[in-house]
Amino acid sequence: MNYRIIALSSMLALAALGACTSSGPHKAVPPPQLSMDKIAEGYVRQVLAMGEHDPNYVDAYYGPKAWQDDEKKQKRSLLAILNFNARLQKDIETAPADPNVPPELWALRKRFLRNQLGALEAKARMLDNWKPSFDDESLALYDVSAPFYGREDFSPMLAALDKLLPPGEGTVSQRYNRYLERYAIPADKVEAVMTFAINAARARTLKYFRLPEGERFELSLVNGKPWSAYNWYQGNYLSKIEVNVDQPISVSRAIGLASHEGYPGHHVYNVLLEDQLVKGRGWKEFTVYPLYSPQSFIAEGTADFGVTMAFPPAERLALERQLFELAGFDPAEVETYDAINEAAKPSGNAVLEAARRYRDGSSSLEETVDWLQTYGLTTPERAQQRLKFFDTYGAYIINYSYGEKVIHDYMQRTAGADEPTWAQWRAFFDLLSTPRTPSPLLPD
Ligand SMILES: [Zn+2]
Repeated sequence: MNYRIIALSSMLALAALGACTSSGPHKAVPPPQLSMDKIAEGYVRQVLAMGEHDPNYVDAYYGPKAWQDDEKKQKRSLLAILNFNARLQKDIETAPADPNVPPELWALRKRFLRNQLGALEAKARMLDNWKPSFDDESLALYDVSAPFYGREDFSPMLAALDKLLPPGEGTVSQRYNRYLERYAIPADKVEAVMTFAINAARARTLKYFRLPEGERFELSLVNGKPWSAYNWYQGNYLSKIEVNVDQPISVSRAIGLASHEGYPGHHVYNVLLEDQLVKGRGWKEFTVYPLYSPQSFIAEGTADFGVTMAFPPAERLALERQLFELAGFDPAEVETYDAINEAAKPSGNAVLEAARRYRDGSSSLEETVDWLQTYGLTTPERAQQRLKFFDTYGAYIINYSYGEKVIHDYMQRTAGADEPTWAQWRAFFDLLSTPRTPSPLLPD
């Protein structure tokens, strides 16, 4: 980085933070050290500024409106964002610690900001025409990269499904989708079933977590989106959960979405960060959530793993039975239905692998669609929705099945047991309510 850029960066940094700039144009005066709270403000402004370049970048924001208005007005260039980022990254290393915060928590805060700013820098470079490979993008934006999967990794899944599914024409994937179709919730019952499932997930979570008073969600059904569901966190403990009804929703999907988007998934994660860190400690960096960042690996991984936390096998089966009745299906089928869905779980890894090969050009569009249908167990329509997701969100897909695996393994190492225990819920609460980054969750 040359001098002119550093000088410009310092001025921008100070201007953005409302500090005075006393250095003259011919004299390089080192900028003053920023406090961690000012670095946090700088980080929030950086994320908001990036949102002016990519409309998907800011997933949630409920911090000071003035910062948002200001960044909208300034519409800083990518170069200005990169320069200010370098300043913030440097200051993190020397910012004085707050003696009122336990040192381990302070270290987590520092690491979180460092990690998030590193990803922001990578994303700014991508918007400025950097085209990394799938794995380089994963590492740069999400702090980890996913293992490879070959066809042979999915043979046991296909063999298991072949045995469990009713015999019939076509491939295992086609038989699987025909079977699921029977349990697609009728359109006029989707809202009632989803609401029931979210409330059940909430009740299971509240057995173990105390959530702040007034936490709540609003559910709406939408069409024409590249995702199947979304949680738009509004602040003040409110989530707006949208479910895309372009494709039929099965009973197991309803349970998955209820836990993933709601309890103890995204809604709970956002509520706990707001309660513990924003309101509890005044840490403003948690009022913003940049989508393409390591935070998403934690958010999606815990949300996917949260399904297992809320509904271990016996509880899942009980809820499936209730939803079957609500949706008008025969509850006698529920055990086979559950076993088939469990057997299909590795298909998530196949979707991840499809994204990598598609993105890196080692699979053509046709090959990707074929792979998605064969190993990802998707219908042709769902395959098109997946492709739209890959085109829009790049390597983001690793945050789901791989995120869940990393969180699952981490929980096994820290709290043991296959079924969720109090110790696991405690460890899970810690994951959701403290600043976390992905790579330290990997085994040594
Ligand atoms: Zn999610």
